[in-house]
Amino acid sequence: MNARQPAPGGLALIEDLVNTLLDITTGEDALDRAETRERFGIAAGGGLDEARELRESLRAACLAHAGHPPHRTVTPLGELLARAPLRVAVDERDGAASLVPVRGDSLAGLVAAAIAEARGDGTWARLKACEATDCHWAYYDRSPAGRGRWCDMAVCGARAKMRRYRAK
Ligand SMILES: [Zn+2]
Repeated sequence: MNARQPAPGGLALIEDLVNTLLDITTGEDALDRAETRERFGIAAGGGLDEARELRESLRAACLAHAGHPPHRTVTPLGELLARAPLRVAVDERDGAASLVPVRGDSLAGLVAAAIAEARGDGTWARLKACEATDCHWAYYDRSPAGRGRWCDMAVCGARAKMRRYRAK
C-alpha cells in the first residue's frame, strides 16, 4: 500500500521499480506482466533477471537509508551500477551539466543517472523502504526530520502499533 505522493524527479522511476514486487510475502510480481516490463524497457530473457536483481539491490539501499539491514543477500548496488557507466552532458545553451547514461536505453543506466541527480539535490537518502518485514515498499520520506519509518502510517504504522499492543 502506498498512498503517498510519488518521489520527486528521477527517484519516481526507482520507487516504481522497487514497488513492482507487489507482495514480498507471496512473491506477486508486476514484472511478470508484459505491460509492466514494457514500461521499464525490460527486454525479454536476461533483462528480466537483471531488473529483478537491480530491484532488490535498490530495496536494500532504501532500507539502509532508514537504518535497516538488507532484507536478504543482494548484489551490492554499486557493483550493478558499475555496469551502467554515466557521462557528463553539457547543455550548450546554458552550460548546465548533468550525468546521463552512456547507453541511454538501459534500465540500470537510467537508475544510475537518477541516483546521481538525487544525490546532488539531497533527495537520494530520503528514498526509503518501509520497515515492516511483510511490506518493504519504497516510499519517499517527506517528514521534516527525515525519520519516517513506514510506507504509509495508516497501514503499516497502524499494523506495527497493533502488533506491539498485542505483544504486551
Ligand atoms: Zn509498509
